[in-house]
Order: sequence, then C-alpha cells, then structure tokens
Amino acid sequence: MEVVQVLHMNGGVGETSYANNSLVQKKVITMTKPIREEAITKLYTTSFPAKLVIADLGCSSGPNTLLVVSEFIKIVSNICKKLGNQSPEFQVFLNDLPGNDFNTIFRSLPRDQGGHCFFSGLPGSFYGRLFPSKSVNIFHSSYSLQWLSQVPEGLESNKGNIYMASTSPPCVLKAYYQQFQTDFSFFLKCRSEELVAGGRMVLTFLGRRSDDPSSKECCYIWELLAMALNEMASEGTIEEEKVDSFNIPQYTPSPSEIKCEVMKEGSFGIDRIEVTDVNWDVYNNEFKGGNVSQLQSEDGGYNVAQCMRAVAEPLLVSHFGEAIIDEAFNKYRRIVADRMAKEKTEFINVTISLVRNG
Ligand code: SAH
Repeated sequence: MEVVQVLHMNGGVGETSYANNSLVQKKVITMTKPIREEAITKLYTTSFPAKLVIADLGCSSGPNTLLVVSEFIKIVSNICKKLGNQSPEFQVFLNDLPGNDFNTIFRSLPRDQGGHCFFSGLPGSFYGRLFPSKSVNIFHSSYSLQWLSQVPEGLESNKGNIYMASTSPPCVLKAYYQQFQTDFSFFLKCRSEELVAGGRMVLTFLGRRSDDPSSKECCYIWELLAMALNEMASEGTIEEEKVDSFNIPQYTPSPSEIKCEVMKEGSFGIDRIEVTDVNWDVYNNEFKGGNVSQLQSEDGGYNVAQCMRAVAEPLLVSHFGEAIIDEAFNKYRRIVADRMAKEKTEFINVTISLVRNG
C-alpha cells in the first residue's frame, strides 16, 4: 500500500465525511489555541513583516481546515489595530496529500478576503520539500504528524493486530519507532530549510503520555477495530491473512520522543511543549447540548465509530475492499460503546511550539 496515494480523510460533506465527523479534532484545535496565540504574537511582534506566509500542513477538508489560519490572521490584525500598524499581507498555503478533497476547501473559501489574504492549496507530502528555502514564516499542523510516510517494514509478526498492541512483539514496536524517527527527523530538516530565521512552528500530535509505545492510551482505539476485523475473520467474512497483513501507518509519540528528534536535528529551539487530553466521544466534551451537528448523536459508540471511519475508511478499502466497511464499523461501534461504558477513553495530544534558530 502506498500511503501517499491511499491516505486521505473521507471527502465531501456526507454522513461519513471527515467534514461531518471531526468535532474531536476541532476540540483539540480549540484547546491548543493559547499556544498558537503566543507563537504568532511573538512571531509578528519581533519582526513586523509586511508579508506573512502561513502554511497549515495536513489541513484535510471540513470546518477545521480554515480554523487555525483564520485565527492567525485575526490575531495579527488585532495587534496591528492596537498598534496603529497597517495589516500585513497574508499568504496562506493549505497542504495535504493529493487524495484530499481540495475542491470542497476551495468552494468554502471566503469570497471577500479584503484584498490582503491569498489562499492556495498545496498537494504533496510534508515528508519532503514543499516550499523554496527561507520562504515561510509559520507552519502549523494539528493531528496530522502521527501519520507515517509508510507502513513500517518488518511487521510480519504483528498477527491479529493492526497497530502496536500489548501483544505486539518488541521488533514490531521497534519498527514503528524507527519509522517515526526517520519521518519526523526528515520533516524537521525540510521545514528548517523552508522557514525564515526566527520562523515558527506549532505542531500537535495525536500522541501518548507513557514511555511505552504499546500503552493502552494510544493503542486501544485501534485494538478495538482489530477486534471487529478479527470477529469478521472468525465468521469467514474476511480472510484471516488479510487482517494479519494490515497495519495502520501511524505512530503516536510521547513528548520525550518528539523532543529527542528536535534536539538531534538541531535547527529549532523549543518554546513550549504541552500534553492535553480529550474524550473519544464529542458528546462527552463540552459540545454537550451545544452546536453538535445533526448527524452526531448521544450514542457515543456511533460518534467514535463515525470519526474513525472518516479517518480510516480509505486505508481499509484499499486493503479489504469496500464490501466489508459497513459491517466492520457496525461491529466497531458496538465494541466501542461497550468499552466506553466501562472505562475512561481519551486521546492524548502533544503540542510543541518551535522557533527556527537564526
Ligand atoms: N488538521 C485537520 C486535519 C487532521 S486529519 C484537523 O485538525 O482537523 C490529518 C490530515 O493529515 C489528513 O487530511 C491527511 O491526509 C493528512 N496527512 C497525513 N499524512 C500527510 C503527509 N505526509 N503530507 C501531507 N498531509 C498528510
């Protein structure tokens, strides 16, 4: 499976789209706002650039796509107003893999951008150069960098699992970690070349607190999907071998693993690093009773299954075919609902704010 070709969140605005099933990710963006606020304020007030180049990496398509860049623009515009400065021109790049639904983004762009905001879509992998040298002021990325550039090699012994799990042999955990190191260090190298001196980067990973990469806090969500797939294998709906050979190209790093790569690469200073958590179910977060979309319901199992389906469906379709999807996610919904009734179920988020050394 070519991750770069296959991976994308479900497009469009339908019931299984990312656009309609990304409230958890939105909540994370809301929670990490103070870190971005600090970064963009420091960035602008140390150099007062006449043009600010902003890039959001892994922007997907949906209500979250423009959330952060419009927040950056608002913050800088407010500072300018206060200081009586003329607002800079904003050049905004929205990046994601080529399979992303860029058309839906383009249709949602505000028509009147006041003549000082210029938006472009930028298809391509962030595990490679995306911009000319020293041309970007600030990079942002939320919930994207846990995706690896490829499924790690050497996972043959990860039978019955689809991600790192408590039953994964040590060589599987090692292969995942090495892929993360290779990918994230190359990401840092590319961005360090693209940023201007003093440029900044705020990155939020789906991650973990624990030092153990197979800890439940990051692996459980996929273990439950593996359960659904294994159930189908035992019922003969899918081949067991198919489940054995399927692995999710993700790595949910700990704060110290992220820091370690940043230090090794050497071009960035660490301004801040923070860990937060968010419940799997949107309804358990503060959206309760609020503006939850019509498609979201009080059925936590449904919400979580839909969220994970919007994220993982293209990967599953490419490996197992379309025919199994509805059944797999019905089973998953039931399994997830059962676990949520009995346990605390949270995603862990790690946010790091970096400055490009001058
Ligand atoms: N930032 C959005 C979307 C997160 S979903 C939000 O917070 O809601 C993660 C996105 O990262 C997906 O759209 C996926 O296609 C993208 N992504 C994963 N790997 C990528 C890569 N190597 N290069 C660019 N985008 C990538």
